[in-house]
Amino acid sequence: MKFTVLTLFPEMIEQGINTSITGRALAQGTISLTTVNIRDFAHDRYGHVDDYPYGGGAGMVMMAPPIYEAWEFATKDQEKKPRFIYVTPQGRVFDQSMALDYAKEDALVFLCGHYEGVDERVLDELQAERVSIGDYVLTGGELPAMVMIDAISRMVPGVLSNEESGEEESFMNGLLEYPQYTRPDVFMGREVPEVLKSGHHANIARWRRDQSLLRTLTVRPELLDKVDLDKKDKNFLEKLKNTCIPSE
Ligand code: SAM
Repeated sequence: MKFTVLTLFPEMIEQGINTSITGRALAQGTISLTTVNIRDFAHDRYGHVDDYPYGGGAGMVMMAPPIYEAWEFATKDQEKKPRFIYVTPQGRVFDQSMALDYAKEDALVFLCGHYEGVDERVLDELQAERVSIGDYVLTGGELPAMVMIDAISRMVPGVLSNEESGEEESFMNGLLEYPQYTRPDVFMGREVPEVLKSGHHANIARWRRDQSLLRTLTVRPELLDKVDLDKKDKNFLEKLKNTCIPSE
């Protein structure tokens, strides 16, 4: 997977992605990262890439030409133009299924906005996919782009080792993940659930599935509407609903 990020702060992206599992994936070549500084495409010698909004109002807007030229530069060697993602609070909210979908691509280009955002015309011209990371407003698009690159990279074959497999994680089966424990056996008087030490694989799997259902019902009940539930799941949930649901 080849990630390209159009940004005013390339070093922020490079430092962030060159860490931990994504850093290892870069070193192994399973993913690659190119940053393009939009300011290098400014049309004046002061490096201006923003201007006042037509119609007035607070703040500045990133101009279309430097962004367009940065995109042209970034994609000049790619015959098939990669999907182009503008990270924006006005986009579709990013989730695990979108991470899986984007991970199937060979290349992706991200645009990080700043100030009041970006001149709409360059987004329309480049048919940008508008994607948000949640219903709040950040200062710039670098953190959202890094969030997406991290989540997508995890789904690129070869990025996670077998031990780190993403298969059992939250959202992969539509549910939140079950609670995890490691040594010591007792912490502050709290013991690891007995079943996890039993070595009985079927019982452990059932306990984990039930805990996933419990956690999802407690914290994100709306997720349950989209999950395939079998008879045992339904019975367990029915029992839970007839008792008090503890809050997290
Ligand atoms: N004026 C814009 C609005 O009201 O929608 C917000 C601009 S924000 C201060 C500056 C930039 O940060 C945006 O252009 C976008 O690239 C990025 N950004 C901020 N919040 C975001 C979010 N929740 N998801 C994705 N990108 C975000």
